[in-house]
Amino acid sequence: SAGQIVVVGGGFGGAACARALKRADAKLQVTLIEPSKSYISCPFSNEVIAGLREIEAQQFGYDKLAAEGINIVAQAATTIDTHKRGLTTGDGGTFGYDRLVLSPGIDFHLEALPGYDDAASETMPHAWKAGAQTLLLRRQLEAMADGGTVAIAIPANPSRCPPAPYERAGLIAHYLKAKKPRSKVLILDAKDNFSQQRLFEKAWKELYGDMIERVALSQGGRVTSVDPSTKTIITEFGNYTPDVANVIPPQRAGRVAAIAGTADATGWCPIDPTTFESKLVKDIHVIGDACLGGGIPKSASAASAQGKACAGAIVNLLAGRAPETPRLTGVCYNIVAPGYGFSLTGNYQPKDDIFAEVEGGATSPVDAPRELRAREAAEAERWFRIITADCFG
Ligand code: FAD
Repeated sequence: SAGQIVVVGGGFGGAACARALKRADAKLQVTLIEPSKSYISCPFSNEVIAGLREIEAQQFGYDKLAAEGINIVAQAATTIDTHKRGLTTGDGGTFGYDRLVLSPGIDFHLEALPGYDDAASETMPHAWKAGAQTLLLRRQLEAMADGGTVAIAIPANPSRCPPAPYERAGLIAHYLKAKKPRSKVLILDAKDNFSQQRLFEKAWKELYGDMIERVALSQGGRVTSVDPSTKTIITEFGNYTPDVANVIPPQRAGRVAAIAGTADATGWCPIDPTTFESKLVKDIHVIGDACLGGGIPKSASAASAQGKACAGAIVNLLAGRAPETPRLTGVCYNIVAPGYGFSLTGNYQPKDDIFAEVEGGATSPVDAPRELRAREAAEAERWFRIITADCFG
């Protein structure tokens, strides 16, 4: 047979993979299963929260993928039979596969945060999946009185996009400084150190004075439970009742990964880094946020790079050829205010059975003229246009 590939999840990982498969071999039958008619991007959603951008600029459809011959199924995958190599969708549809690719992103690990659930997210939004949650947090900021406190609760790693909560803190401070200057941003953090910390802290001081306060792990910043009825956040050392509570819960791979049997006790999916094939289930590959990517931070940039590399590996495996060793590049931009950005680039290759960072990475200098920060902010927007065009356009 020509090869039937089913991809579950039409985010940055799944869309990039489906496209790369079809482009590599037009005879492959590629099916993309994704319940949403349009994808809403998390990158740049912090700008939406801060009122700097509208949610429409975050939305991308699947028409171009369909035009390239990818079979788009607007359903969720509900069950997977790994022996018969088939899956079913919410509407009762059935799909057989030679290879299955899972790119379901994250779900929340609610047992790890007592008090938090779907209902709690309506009063204490996570805004860690873009869409209604993004807009809810924005509305809460707009409704807050001047002099209020916005708390951001940040989980430990591994989690989706480790620097993005700090980017959010800066952009919320930008909004407050303009509209409600007596207000505060309080970060309750389950980590002591974070990505690009010196760059962030320097920028916060320079732009926002002491508007942003951070309680780190060793100061008791880890959130242990929440009470949505009183909007209370309970940490190791104290209770907080902020006016706006942005609670980002601990995470694990999207639920379908566990249904397939590809998630281990950590909640994430161990993979062979050369092929992205699950270490637990044959013929299933896991990419993007859901996989245990070793040293690769979970990002859209990494997910799409993994999607392409995985497509290459699948084409080789189906043809009976040895897969090539992937070398992935991830880039991450952080925006602290309009026209103020910095970045981190990393290269990754399989080593000792996981992805390890190899030479060639770079981070923006801590001391740099404002022109460089402005240039990097412009580059971030260019990056967004390119990656979304690459995946959906
Ligand atoms: P996703 O993009 O989440 O896609 C998963 C898809 O799978 C979803 O569309 C979902 O509907 C679908 N799905 C789930 N379950 C099923 C099922 N059972 N059946 C069918 N479909 C299913 N990354 C960057 O590189 N740069 C940034 O600047 C950046 N900023 C960010 C800012 C914020 C606030 C956040 C939260 C994240 C940011 N990220 C950024 C991270 C980035 O959004 C993720 O790493 C990326 O989306 C991961 O891609 P993915 O394909 O693994 O998952």
